[in-house]
Amino acid sequence: MQKGNIGVTTENIFPVIKKFLYSDHEIFLREIVSNAIDATQKLKTLQLKGDFKGEPGDLTIHIGLDKKAGTITVSDKGIGMTAEEIEKYINQIAFSGANDFLEKYKDDANAIIGHFGLGFYSAFMVSKRVEIVTRSYKEDAKPVHWSCEGNPEFTMKECEKEERGTDIILHIDDDCKEFLEESKLSELLNKYCRFLPVPIAFGKKKEWKDGKQVETDEDNIINDTTPLWTRTPSELKDEDYKKFYRELYPMADEPLFWIHLNVDYPFHLTGVLYFPRVKNSIELQRNKIQLFCNQVFVTDQVEGIVPDFLTLLHGVIDSPDIPLNVSRSYLQSDANVKKISSYITKKVSDRLQSIFKDNRKEFEEKWDNLKIFINYGMLTEEDFYEKAEKYALLKDTNDKYFTFEEYKTLIKDNQTDKDGNLVYLYAGNKQEQYTWIEAAESKGYSVLLMDGQLDVAVISMLERKFEKCRFSRVDADVIDRLIVKEEPEKKELDADKRFCLSHMFESQMPKQEKTEFHVETASLGETAAPVMITQSEYMRRMKEMAQIQAGMGFYGEMPDMYTVVVNADHPLVKGVMESEEKECAAQLKTLLDENDALRVRKEELEAAHKDKKDEEIPIPEKEEKETATKRMDAIRHEREEILAGFASKNNTVHQLIDLALLQNGMLKGEALAHFVQRSVEMIK
Ligand code: ADP
Repeated sequence: MQKGNIGVTTENIFPVIKKFLYSDHEIFLREIVSNAIDATQKLKTLQLKGDFKGEPGDLTIHIGLDKKAGTITVSDKGIGMTAEEIEKYINQIAFSGANDFLEKYKDDANAIIGHFGLGFYSAFMVSKRVEIVTRSYKEDAKPVHWSCEGNPEFTMKECEKEERGTDIILHIDDDCKEFLEESKLSELLNKYCRFLPVPIAFGKKKEWKDGKQVETDEDNIINDTTPLWTRTPSELKDEDYKKFYRELYPMADEPLFWIHLNVDYPFHLTGVLYFPRVKNSIELQRNKIQLFCNQVFVTDQVEGIVPDFLTLLHGVIDSPDIPLNVSRSYLQSDANVKKISSYITKKVSDRLQSIFKDNRKEFEEKWDNLKIFINYGMLTEEDFYEKAEKYALLKDTNDKYFTFEEYKTLIKDNQTDKDGNLVYLYAGNKQEQYTWIEAAESKGYSVLLMDGQLDVAVISMLERKFEKCRFSRVDADVIDRLIVKEEPEKKELDADKRFCLSHMFESQMPKQEKTEFHVETASLGETAAPVMITQSEYMRRMKEMAQIQAGMGFYGEMPDMYTVVVNADHPLVKGVMESEEKECAAQLKTLLDENDALRVRKEELEAAHKDKKDEEIPIPEKEEKETATKRMDAIRHEREEILAGFASKNNTVHQLIDLALLQNGMLKGEALAHFVQRSVEMIK
């Protein structure tokens, strides 16, 4: 029997393994099983080359669980090891500068394992003792037993073993007992070993008999050795892809479509990416893509390897060329990884383009589900934008789809304003903005439906990308002012009438928290609505951006500001003005006359004082001016009171305001109840 010390140049690797690799304990299984797979595949290679002439037999790898003994055993029928090989591959873990490296990557088990080739030693993360019982395929090789208790000392001796191959026996630590649960082990096998290329058996298949689950004689094979992505695309049918998707994500709806990746040069990469069907943002999840290295599961954290927007996709990527056993920051700067990332982007884009070209109908049908991915890609990857702008779609409020180019051609003639800007009208909600959409359509305008989660950002992006264009929501202004084609002819009311009209309405607007109404009068013709409420495109957008973007909280805090446009041409509004005049004219006239007299006197005084220094102006004149100003303010106030008093009793004013609010979905609670009541009274 041989005793010895494991050749580690730093003090002791074992505490490091235990302490630093704490969070990733469970990967021990992946490492031990991968070694068994490697040993099996090496045997197959030797056989092919004629270096192994024996009978390979059944090469299934067996996972044994003995809860009583507290062991997990991984047995393979691979090439096995001779005593010399154990000495060379297991006992000598030669490395230098280990401490620094361990300190730097202490949270990243993959990096450590990869750096040192510590795969086998990861067993000590969960074991108090590890045994190797192995017999090499070499004809004269003697079986060897190796044992180590998680310190640099090991024992190695000859032993009995009939069959070729290796058993790794893990005596599980007391604080890792969970791995001795069948369900836990099963879960880990499913996570890490599900697609390994050699059959792996864990216990026996169970079946239901007389209401009980009983074991059969058949091995319970836990893996699929030729998963879909390793097969040739031309041999696969749609149903195969769908089936594989269901296996990966049993709870998900059927995918929109998929892309089979298959590259040999300049790197190796295979995989299948699925576009999931998402119903809402809550379902949008990252980290659904699983990354494999030769069918060994590595991670589902694929950021840095695939472009950000593709992390929303589902599926698998398998590449031996992605340096898996390194830290994330290293990954992101790795040239190979960058190439892989841009290759995947290109593949995804090509596939989308070909579906668009070959089957536009299908593409349109899927667009509503697809657009979140495409939009996100366009927003975040310049390269992707350049490809996607040819097939990304815009949808109008009549559910018609257009490419960017097609839409531009459609609206060019009718929706260019007097400054040569192309105005893209859009609605955020077809129901709520119904009247506005209708008004726009009656002018022959087209209205886009922009109700997606990313559309606020998409609009800004398109405004930057398209030349001379502007997006405007249909309710951002009255229709004639949305696309101003020539200078509007001025047939506005005189200043005094404007004051009266706007004040009557302004005084009756409801008081709502964090909401401000600014009333304007306009001459919009007899047939346009009497009162309309609009919100400026700029303010609304800033507020929307504030909701999704950090650092714009300022806009979020601001009140909602609306413009109330009172149409002075409308008969009902005219009626209000007429009765106001009848009722208030006398009162207002006295005040106005007084105001005029004061104004004239004030102007006189101001003219006289123009070139004088302050101390040269006689005090009585100064006082007179001050009194006049105060009185004029008071008069203004009195006029407002009179108008407000009149308006408060005028049902038409209230009714028109409420109807406008109602149209914008802003009439609620008590105000809505009053409106209903008032309407009922008016019908009576
Ligand atoms: P790596 O697999 O990265 O080389 P490991 O520490 O996991 O590092 O394994 C070290 C070596 O031990 C392997 O390269 C292989 O030669 C040998 N080995 C480990 N497990 C087995 C096994 N089950 N059968 C045969 N050889 C093995």
